[in-house]
Amino acid sequence: MAEYRTFTTDDAMRFADEHSGLFGEHSKLSCEEFGDGNLNLVFRVENDKGTSLIVKQALPYARCVGESWPLTIDRARIEAEVLIKHRKLCPEHTVEVLHYDAEHAAILMEDLSDYRILRSELIAAKQFPHLAAQLAAYLANTLYYTSDFALTGPKKKQQVSQFLNPELCLITEDLFFTDPYCNHERNNVHSEIRTEAQQLWHDEVLQAEVAQLKADFLSKPQALLHGDMHSGSIFINDENCKVIDAEFGFYGPIGFDVGSLVGNLLLSYLSHFGLTADSSARETQQQYLLEQITCLWQQFSSQFKQLMEQECREPSLQNSLYQQRFMQQIWADTLGYAGCELIRRTVGLAHVADLDSISDSTLRGQCEAKALKLGRQLILQRHELANMAQLVALIQYQQA
Ligand code: ADP
Ligand code: MG
Repeated sequence: MAEYRTFTTDDAMRFADEHSGLFGEHSKLSCEEFGDGNLNLVFRVENDKGTSLIVKQALPYARCVGESWPLTIDRARIEAEVLIKHRKLCPEHTVEVLHYDAEHAAILMEDLSDYRILRSELIAAKQFPHLAAQLAAYLANTLYYTSDFALTGPKKKQQVSQFLNPELCLITEDLFFTDPYCNHERNNVHSEIRTEAQQLWHDEVLQAEVAQLKADFLSKPQALLHGDMHSGSIFINDENCKVIDAEFGFYGPIGFDVGSLVGNLLLSYLSHFGLTADSSARETQQQYLLEQITCLWQQFSSQFKQLMEQECREPSLQNSLYQQRFMQQIWADTLGYAGCELIRRTVGLAHVADLDSISDSTLRGQCEAKALKLGRQLILQRHELANMAQLVALIQYQQA
C-alpha cells in the first residue's frame, strides 16, 4: 500500500493489524465503516476477543459535500500531531493516537466505544459532574504549555509553522465569521427566524465586533488550539472524558477553544427550552449546565494563572499585572467566540443537533431566536461583563 487511495474495510483492517501488536497473529478481524462525521472515513476494527481500534482516514474532499469540495488530506497530519502533542500535555483527557500514516492520511487510535459523544448525552439531559473540571484541565494544560509562557521564541515559531493549517482555518474563517453576517448561499436559516437572521446582515455594530474577533483568529497565535472544541468532539462516560478530532488545530487565540466549548454548553442550555417539556426537569438540567460553565471558567482560569505564576521561564512575561491583563483578555475573547458559536450554529451551514432535534418548529424557532440574541449580547458586551456571575445573570435574564 504505497500511494493514497480510499480505504475499503479490508484496507483498514490490514492497516490496523500492521501497525499494532494488539490483535495477535491468529485473531479473526472484522471491520465496519461507521463514521457519522462530516469530513472523514471512520472504521472500527475488532478481533474475535472484543479488542478493537479505530482507523480514521481523511478523504481528499469533504465527506458531507462530496468531491465538489476538495480538501487537503494533510489535515490527518494536523489531527495526529495535535492529538499526540495534547496527549503529552494532558494524557487523561486526550484520545491516544497509535500510528499516523502520511501516505494514506490515516490515523490508528484507541477505540472509545465505552464512552459516548457528549452532544447526544446532553440532548438526552444526562449529567456528568466531572465534565467541567476535566475539560478545564485539558484546556489549561494544552493551551498553557504551547504558549509563549512555556516555549522559547524559536520553538514557538517552529510550531506555529508546523500547524499553519490554512485550508481548515479558511473553513472556520468563512463559516464562523463571514457567512452568518451576510446573505450567503451556504447559510441554513429556518423560516421561523428569517427576520432575526436578516437583521444580522445589516447589524454594522455587531459586524465590527465580529471583524475584530476574526482579525484575532487570523493573527493571534497564542497557543496550539484544538480548533473544533464542540460537544461532538468530546467523548464522555461516568468517570472520564476524552477529546478527539483535532483536524482544525492551529496556533490561534486561546479564547477560541474555551469559547467554542462554552458556546456549545450554552446551545445545550437554550435547546432544553424546546427539548424538555417538564419545567422542573428542564430547570434542573439548565442549572447543571450553568454550574458546569461556571466551574469550567473558574478552574481553567485558576489553573492557567497558577501555571503562569509558577512555571513561566521568560522574565518579561512573569510580570503579574501583565498576567492579569492576559487572563482578562482571554475572558473577553471566550465570551466573544462563544457568541459567534451561538450565531453560526443557528444560521450557518453547520447546525447542531441540540437545536435541530426540537420537533416543534415554533418552539425550535423560539430557541434559535434566543441563541441569536444571547450570541449578539456576548459579542457586544464581552468587555463589559466583568465576571462569571454577571454572565450567569445575563443568561438567566435572557430566559425571561
Ligand atoms: P470527522 O472529523 O469526520 O467529523 P470525528 O473524528 O468527529 O470525524 O469522528 C466521527 C465519528 O466517529 C464520531 O462521532 C464517533 O462516533 C466516531 N469516532 C471517532 N473517533 C472515535 C474513537 N476514537 N472511538 C470511537 N468512536 C470514534
Ligand atoms: Mg472533524
